[in-house]
Amino acid sequence: MNFRCSKCDGEEYSVKTTFMAEKTPGLRLELGTYYLKTCSNCGYTEMYSAKILDRDEKLKPEY
Ligand SMILES: [Zn+2]
Repeated sequence: MNFRCSKCDGEEYSVKTTFMAEKTPGLRLELGTYYLKTCSNCGYTEMYSAKILDRDEKLKPEY
């Protein structure tokens, strides 16, 4: 995954994983996993849902 900071055009970043409570449709609370991408130059942070990223990587069927 290529990264270019949308604030300063920097290409160096660090990634951290964090957990956040999220509500499911049944109103139960679950912990969702998120990746935080922080620009090493200006500190701008983007957040990605690991659930969706991981789902997109599973393009082949599993048995
Ligand atoms: Zn930046």
